[in-house]
Amino acid sequence: MKSGESWLADSHLDVELDVPRSVEEMLLPDVYVGLEIDLLSPGDGIVTDRHHASAERYESDDPMNQIEGQISPFTLSGWLRHGCEEAVQIAGATACHPGEPNADYMRAETYERDLDSGYHEKGACLGDHDAGCVIYDLFGGFGSQPGKLLRRPVSFSPIRRQVDVLDGEAEAHYRQISNQVRSRNEEDGGEPLRQADRDVLGNVEGTWKLSLRELKPEFVGLLLEAVSFLDAHSDEFEFQVGGARNFGAGIADVWVINPLYSEREVRRVFDRAKAATSAMEEKDDLWAEECRPEFVRALQARVEARTGEVVRDA
Ligand SMILES: [Zn+2]
Repeated sequence: MKSGESWLADSHLDVELDVPRSVEEMLLPDVYVGLEIDLLSPGDGIVTDRHHASAERYESDDPMNQIEGQISPFTLSGWLRHGCEEAVQIAGATACHPGEPNADYMRAETYERDLDSGYHEKGACLGDHDAGCVIYDLFGGFGSQPGKLLRRPVSFSPIRRQVDVLDGEAEAHYRQISNQVRSRNEEDGGEPLRQADRDVLGNVEGTWKLSLRELKPEFVGLLLEAVSFLDAHSDEFEFQVGGARNFGAGIADVWVINPLYSEREVRRVFDRAKAATSAMEEKDDLWAEECRPEFVRALQARVEARTGEVVRDA
């Protein structure tokens, strides 16, 4: 895609995009999502690399622990997809349900209720010569449809100089937290009843690197709208990321890093010692006023092209 030959993939949309910069001048097909999360507790755990502190020397409360690892892409992907579904629904269409229609749901009535409130059955949007709705197209569906968005894990390190934000990395501090649930009964003298361990990360700051395998303009528009929705609703239970939400975990300040930035400028965003340059500010204005609205317009055109075709309860 970066070869320069193709500009944006043909989406058969009835809109001509008028973007004042070419794709070659953008970070596309990579999309960097800036992340700032005070406390994150991914439900499916954290993959750690404990070679800095071997198992027998690991003390969960030792501030000298320098543990590196990865934040699961599955947790992040589910959260992003939820934001994308909302963006499509706000644009006036239904979104693909994330679950297979023939799955064995624990709560069948909940699935039916989803179909009545902004979702269509997964794959119901597929015609014979059709990529399906924009959610299906981007995230993929059944075996033959692998999706177009590469969602990598976020590697993290507590040592800022080892973090490369161009690689989708973040500074973050890993701890394993143990809670003991103690007996409330006076006779037991506060004896522990059970122990719960969870992995958490504190002060996550960095990027999540996404890559579009096919550069349709409406995909860019969808990611832009989804990320700003997630940021605006970051402290609502449904849109927090990961677990421990009632304890303030997963409140994520997120934004798409200006695709007009150079790689050096992306690094500068996370350099505490340096402010944005005037060139970066000019790019911010250009992006906000002339580029972003065009990608969002492509999303709207894609959604409108489908509205009315999707049978909600097919
Ligand atoms: Zn669909």
